[in-house]
Amino acid sequence: MAREFYSRERLAPAPAAFHLLPFKFTRFHGKELLVNEAGEFLFAPPGTVAHLAEERFDMRSGLYQDLKAKHFLYDDSSSPLLDVLAAKIRTKYDHIMGGTKLHIFVVTLRCDHSCEYCQVSRQTESRGEFDMSAATADRALAMMMDSPARDLTLEIQGGEPLVAFDLIQYLIPGAKALASERGKNLDLVVCTNLSRVTDDILLYFRDKGVKVSTSLDGPAFLHNKNRPRPGGDSYEKAIEGIERSRAILGKENVAALMTTTAASLDYPVEIIDEYVRRDFHSIFLRPLSPYGFAVKTRHRTGYEMGRFLDFYKKGLAHILEVNRRGYRLVEVYTQILLTKILTPHSTRHVDMQSPSGQIWNVLVYNYDGDVYASDESRMLAEMHDRTFRLGNVHRDTRRTIFTGDSALRTFEASCNQALVGCSDCAFQTYCAADPVYHHATQGDMYGSRPTSGFCARNMEVIKHLFSLIEENDPDTMRLLWSWIVGEYAFSEVTTCV
Ligand code: SF4
Repeated sequence: MAREFYSRERLAPAPAAFHLLPFKFTRFHGKELLVNEAGEFLFAPPGTVAHLAEERFDMRSGLYQDLKAKHFLYDDSSSPLLDVLAAKIRTKYDHIMGGTKLHIFVVTLRCDHSCEYCQVSRQTESRGEFDMSAATADRALAMMMDSPARDLTLEIQGGEPLVAFDLIQYLIPGAKALASERGKNLDLVVCTNLSRVTDDILLYFRDKGVKVSTSLDGPAFLHNKNRPRPGGDSYEKAIEGIERSRAILGKENVAALMTTTAASLDYPVEIIDEYVRRDFHSIFLRPLSPYGFAVKTRHRTGYEMGRFLDFYKKGLAHILEVNRRGYRLVEVYTQILLTKILTPHSTRHVDMQSPSGQIWNVLVYNYDGDVYASDESRMLAEMHDRTFRLGNVHRDTRRTIFTGDSALRTFEASCNQALVGCSDCAFQTYCAADPVYHHATQGDMYGSRPTSGFCARNMEVIKHLFSLIEENDPDTMRLLWSWIVGEYAFSEVTTCV
């Protein structure tokens, strides 16, 4: 006798109705790509969004279950799941909790290099009036320690900070003593071109637990072109300094960053191979910032964003190939975005956050005590635009800095959730607001997305990454996942130039 089974409808009656949760969408390669507030995404057949909006949806379909599981809608059986969504959204915005963590001290504008794209408008080595005084350092340290953040990073930069090594020796013990008094964890980073580094300096850094971040723009012909110095040997100095620093500090405490000038655009493979040759395991394919001296020299160093995007895509393809050959090399911009796309986590990278990381996550103390919203806004000030000057350590407190006109105006333009163009962009959750960039390039902190280089870059890179995700090549996805979990996942990114 044939056994009778209850019908599927009797065992799991269809819910009476469903309700939409907030999400955004875009057409993508003939499909629809839906992204919700927590950054969860779904590739769906064309017409899905219209059917949802018109409530014409087969609530027994696999697609309905996927949409429900990924929090694009809910029904009567969903209530516990909404708490999960709330927790995911809280995790996504974790970066705004806890106060300003990154504190950049510009101890001098003096430098022995004369890079055409210099973002700090450096001064010649003899001009000591561009050094931070001990009194200013004390006040800046006191303001830094007033941050409610438990984990603080003191990043010392310039100019070339090693020309003011005396001040570094004054700052670091003072910072350590105050951090210990206040129960804070303190990370120390010095951003240096390494041309003046000596074993004595490095031994001091080792004793104090200081990490070093330097610049490496590619092979000798490119680095020496981008970063001229007397003798034309900035590359040789950088390589010698990297090796010397690694020998004393340990390889894991020495990082390098590159800047992409017009001269770099034809050489993505050569730049990446230089990083491999020098045994680095991460590289950040960064575009040139439209600030500081780079503005004066943009006819020589600048380029259209489209050219940078070609450079990035060729570079990423080569980096994946390098990984396939067995050498682990992470591209940091990709890593930041994939962390946002594929995981519930936020990142600590201050340039890719909404609300913007400027002020919330980073403060810059200039040599003269002026406080800025970010390193880029301090570079603008060197070009006589003090829009993002928040105050001065000798006259202000953390409270007056955060409640002053400059900070409040910046905060208003800091959330891409509320910016025209971004507010209905499918990629808003992964992207950022950058009031300083838009003020510098468009004369308006809010900015206009159709002509924004920031938007063009992020839109195209995010689409490129979604193309890789859609292709779902197991080998590529395994590599990309390995960048965001495990040994190669980053714990922090410094902003050194
Ligand atoms: S900047 Fe562009 S890509 Fe980013 S959220 Fe705004 S509109 Fe979207």
